Amino acid sequence: MASGSNGNCYYIGNEKDAVLVDAGISCKQILRRIDEAGLDASKIRGIFVSHEHSDHIRGVRVLSNKLGVPAWFSQGTFNSIVKPEQPDRSSIFIPGKSVKSGSFTVHPFLKNHDAAEPCSFRIEHDDWNVGVFTDIGEACKQVKSHLDKCHALFLETNYDEKMLWEGSYPYMLKQRVASSHGHLSNDQAFELIRDHAGPELLHVFLSHLSGENNSPELAVSRFQSLTDRFNVRLTSRHTFSEMCRLR
Ligand SMILES: [Zn+2]
Ligand SMILES: [Zn+2]
Repeated sequence: MASGSNGNCYYIGNEKDAVLVDAGISCKQILRRIDEAGLDASKIRGIFVSHEHSDHIRGVRVLSNKLGVPAWFSQGTFNSIVKPEQPDRSSIFIPGKSVKSGSFTVHPFLKNHDAAEPCSFRIEHDDWNVGVFTDIGEACKQVKSHLDKCHALFLETNYDEKMLWEGSYPYMLKQRVASSHGHLSNDQAFELIRDHAGPELLHVFLSHLSGENNSPELAVSRFQSLTDRFNVRLTSRHTFSEMCRLR
């Protein structure tokens, strides 16, 4: 529904249920985009929040309250959100322990990012797996092992190295973005899936692109040599992306 450093919201659904990962744009926008995409918000059974940065939580309280579904957080993420921003129905997951949400099993695991207790998710239904791996400074062992099981993947391609270092960000911020607790570059994401994608991987959505330090064309061209192994698709900072059916 939205992907980029300005706001993130990922929809994974089947015939009867759906889960969202993050709600980083307004509730109103999320509901409008779900509707425009031809999907049904009443199928949503839970909202899984990866970490407390505003591009991941902006709409979570209003959306969770409006839909009457739980918003799921790690304890560290939940504690980092000020009380007025906490949804009425907040649930806590433990990284490494799976959670049921409707007919989905959600596998949360810790990731390297400059937040309190940030997590990525692999979402499973009937042995089909979708990964949402954004805001990763460095791909750890866990990312690689969950990636191996994925049929579809939202993968962070945050920045182009050259654009970042030659760009207008203050030096401290450049260092933060490129650090092991910042974001994945196009090159890092490319190497990660080139070396660790499993044989089952069908679709990769390039996600969480920076508006300043990347361009959709650069990100896509970096992955050109892998398109004989899986489809490479772009997500958008401004609207919902093309839906992808796994079966
Ligand atoms: Zn982010
Ligand atoms: Zn973040």
